[in-house]
Amino acid sequence: MKVIGQTGDTPKVRIAPFKGDKLCAISYTFDDAVKDQSELAVPMLEEFGFRGTFWAIPATIPETEEEKLKNPGKKWGGITWKRLKEMSDNGHEISNHGWSHKNLANLKSEQEIRAEIEKADSLIFLKIGKKPRTFCYPYNAYNDQVLAIAMENRVDTRTRCSGWGYRTTTQWMNNWADGLIKKGEWGITMIHAIIDGFDAFPSKDVLYNHLAHVKKREDKIWIGTFLDVASYIKEAENVRLSVIPKKNGVICKTEMTLDKNLFMEPLTLVVEAKNVVSVKATQKGKKLPAKIEPDKICIDFMPGEAPVKISWKND
Ligand SMILES: [Zn+2]
Repeated sequence: MKVIGQTGDTPKVRIAPFKGDKLCAISYTFDDAVKDQSELAVPMLEEFGFRGTFWAIPATIPETEEEKLKNPGKKWGGITWKRLKEMSDNGHEISNHGWSHKNLANLKSEQEIRAEIEKADSLIFLKIGKKPRTFCYPYNAYNDQVLAIAMENRVDTRTRCSGWGYRTTTQWMNNWADGLIKKGEWGITMIHAIIDGFDAFPSKDVLYNHLAHVKKREDKIWIGTFLDVASYIKEAENVRLSVIPKKNGVICKTEMTLDKNLFMEPLTLVVEAKNVVSVKATQKGKKLPAKIEPDKICIDFMPGEAPVKISWKND
């Protein structure tokens, strides 16, 4: 982030490193669309107001539970398209984990790699109505060629993660989250089954109690989907902010070079001002959500669009 136009007298304005000026971020990401993720993890996440990312393998997904019964011989994945669409409509991210979970680093030709990635994009778009803007490598396996192809027209791909499962305790996960707060980092999980299937937890409470721990620290931790956090971080890195002081406020202009069709996550603008009693922020004439805190104002806005006009009153 580049800031220009700041002089000694103007209030300090900056782009928050994470949404809401929180200290770190967590993306709970779930691999392979295992059935009990939708039955156990989704209700838990939603109870706490969190949303997760679910990496689907389109070749194995049935339309409905009845379709599975009609073709019992086929190796079906867990969650149906009907349920994935419901989850997507409810704010979870449903994204691409390869058409049939092939190890892309082992494929011989570029066409084979493209087919695995692009067929999955197309079917997810057809069934969910949203084109995946992220990607998760089957077996976390990739090489330079696979990475370059997977990154085409995409916000980001999962190249690192913390793998959770049968050996992970709530205490360990809580320490991991507390460590992110200290380091100011983005943590990404890889979770398979919750209690029934590959690398499941010893019980669902192991995950539930961890989510309850994170909920209590929500003032410091942003819990967002992989897409939301990846978009935010890249936008914040690529935005140029200029601040023009005005009476009782500022005008903030931003420029961003990233593709607007891919990057659509609002950023948080932070104005360091004390004893503020009221604030008005607008962009393109529309009122923006603004939060007054003891020593700052946080405003979510769209970068690279019309200037943000902010005015406030102190007591
Ligand atoms: Zn997988």
